[in-house]
Amino acid sequence: MKKKPFLFDLTYPELQEIVTGFGEQKFRARQVWEQAYRHLAGSFDEMSVIPKKLREELTSGISYSHLNTHTDLHSNDGWTRKILFDLPDKSQVETVLMEYETRWTACISTQAGCALGCTFCATGQGGLQRNITSGEIVEQVMFFDRLLNKKDEKLSNLVFMGMGEPFANYKEVMKAVDTLTNPEGYNFGARRITISTVGLVPQIERFAEEKRQVNLAVSLHAATDELRESMLPINKRYPIEVLLKACKQYVNKTRRRISFEWALIDGVNDTPEQAKELARLLKGILSHVNFIPLNPTRGFKGRESKQKRIEQFQSILDDAGVPNTLRLRRGIDINAGCGQLRQEANKQD
Ligand code: SF4
Repeated sequence: MKKKPFLFDLTYPELQEIVTGFGEQKFRARQVWEQAYRHLAGSFDEMSVIPKKLREELTSGISYSHLNTHTDLHSNDGWTRKILFDLPDKSQVETVLMEYETRWTACISTQAGCALGCTFCATGQGGLQRNITSGEIVEQVMFFDRLLNKKDEKLSNLVFMGMGEPFANYKEVMKAVDTLTNPEGYNFGARRITISTVGLVPQIERFAEEKRQVNLAVSLHAATDELRESMLPINKRYPIEVLLKACKQYVNKTRRRISFEWALIDGVNDTPEQAKELARLLKGILSHVNFIPLNPTRGFKGRESKQKRIEQFQSILDDAGVPNTLRLRRGIDINAGCGQLRQEANKQD
């Protein structure tokens, strides 16, 4: 049996082709597109401006959703909500919604699992299930924005920092970005989107060439190859020097600041030596370092850094003039770190 197309995978011309194939005029496709992306309809049935007969044809011809809620958790402080979704083939993705006073940020998955095996990461510990489609990325955003819409709120930022390495699923991730920023549809500001990579150099170079307005974050986590390799196996393929060369090229080409992410692990990468080496490496790169104490995971012995060491690390960077911010850990009580919920669910299932 032929698989039904999935609405959020479709480009506007593809949707138009299907709708005109039902014998309808082109403007009906525009209405469906606007209902899905501007009015955030949760199904074809909710699109009351569309005639009933067409709604029925759409429902039987196009799949509206690939996400099924498996687990839905709210943190005790009420600031974080995390959902583990089942996809139609039973692979799983996690999406996190975080409230920061007046802003709402969604942390989106770009793969079901991940093949890159970073030692401290629950997703890496579980391996790769499959690449997900652009529509499955987009639907995670729609899901949370529909919920916010009901209380007259909306998403302010999107970070592609959930499960998976976005640049290992480059084509689908960029297609999702194009859909989300489409001015005729959802029209989300590209500058409010951040893509995080662990450092796939050819894709960083490609991304720099495309000169998108989307922000780039690189998970660095260590300032020497020996340490970085022990945490992020990808460093064997793209060592720090090669990675930072690509980052510099990105900044030169796009004139955009790059972020470096650093999960602070007690006694591992929070030493004064690492801080000094990091300051030396980043000298002259238009960048910002974001620190976050590690979210401990089942398969990794490391723990989050102690406050005193964090302060010492930061003061070395401050003295060297490296812009940096300490980020708060969110949703520890609901396993909000990427991949942790799937790890827990699989233990229980
Ligand atoms: S940190 Fe990112 S790249 Fe590394 S295993 Fe986890 S999801 Fe994959």
